[in-house]
Amino acid sequence: MKDIFSIDNEYVAHTYGRFPVALVKGKGADIWDTEGKKYIDLGSGIAVNIFGIADDEWQAAVTEQLGKLQHTSNLYYTEPCAKLAELLCKRTSMKKVFYGNSGAEANECAIKAARLYSYNKYGEGRSTIITLKNSFHGRTITTLSATGQDVFHTKFGPFTEGFVYCEADNTEQLRQLVEENNCCAIMFEVVQGEGGVHVLSKEFVAEIAKLAKEKDLITIVDEVQTGNGRTGKLYGYMNYDIQPDVVTTAKGLGGGLPIGVCMLGEKMKDVFTPGTHGSTFGGNPVCCAGAYSILSRIDEKLMSEVAEKSAYIRSELEDATGVESVSGMGLMLGIETQRPAGDIIKDAMEQGVLVLSAKTKVRLLPPLNISMEDLKTAIAILKEVIAR
Ligand SMILES: *Cc1c(COP(=O)(O)O)cnc(C)c1O
Repeated sequence: MKDIFSIDNEYVAHTYGRFPVALVKGKGADIWDTEGKKYIDLGSGIAVNIFGIADDEWQAAVTEQLGKLQHTSNLYYTEPCAKLAELLCKRTSMKKVFYGNSGAEANECAIKAARLYSYNKYGEGRSTIITLKNSFHGRTITTLSATGQDVFHTKFGPFTEGFVYCEADNTEQLRQLVEENNCCAIMFEVVQGEGGVHVLSKEFVAEIAKLAKEKDLITIVDEVQTGNGRTGKLYGYMNYDIQPDVVTTAKGLGGGLPIGVCMLGEKMKDVFTPGTHGSTFGGNPVCCAGAYSILSRIDEKLMSEVAEKSAYIRSELEDATGVESVSGMGLMLGIETQRPAGDIIKDAMEQGVLVLSAKTKVRLLPPLNISMEDLKTAIAILKEVIAR
């Protein structure tokens, strides 16, 4: 029989550079490969498995729904879809939810919503959206356009028009871009994930909110990665003194099932009318039941654990040999190391610890409920590997 690697390499499109590891099962932050080797997971499948692998409560919620009704189409009502939307709105101050299946789709919805709001109020042409350099908003043609990194703006053109890019934390340039363009919205991550775990300054975010208010610009916060407890608050924007018009999230929300949501605030809640947007799988009852289980358990107690674990990681790594600096918030951390991040990822994997990269940094996105025991073991290994 051919092995998994060779079958995959032959038949799966080569859009990813995979590590030579085939994973089979896990529990919490522990994962095993086909050779029986155990890893401690500090990546959560890129900020997805909030409660780790095979969490009991989440599994029960998902399998219960799976046994009842797996899909209906959006022509009918279902309880998980309604209840999750209610919980999302009650736990934020957003008013309505649109369901998609991924981060990119959530952002597509946000972009359509902002442009539709502006079209309805001001007519055609007022459609430019300011996004930030080093942002990441997804892989569709439009969300690639929104992504402020030149490397993504080649080969697939023509790209969607109507995006201009501002340097993160450059308030001067932000004001200038607002003046020079016919803008309808400003879109940003409060902590840039793929762009190198960069935390936006309070001053810059305050300036975004101020300009948006003055010019009736829609503020869109992309919480695909920062959302669902990752930064130590339910949503990353809650670390700042702002009330966004649109919040998107995906990754961690479903606890491992595909779901993306675009939440609309007071100003935006009635922008969509029947026929203006849609998704076949959006609001899938199994995904919504899983997400409800996750969201209802992101509470004060978990958030204080996130803060504690974050402080622990920082205190261990900040002055460690081979570490230049640590950035980020909560359990979304970037470590600038003297050795290349790629080498550290490889060496850590050999020692049984899974970590990620973001630009030149080693990125940590552990499950929020990782045990202190697992975390201590993993950080000790990581420290040793970084110091080599
Ligand atoms: C991952 C990510 C996306 C894209 O999400 P997909 O589910 O892969 O489409 C968008 N924005 C941010 C901030 C992300 O981290």
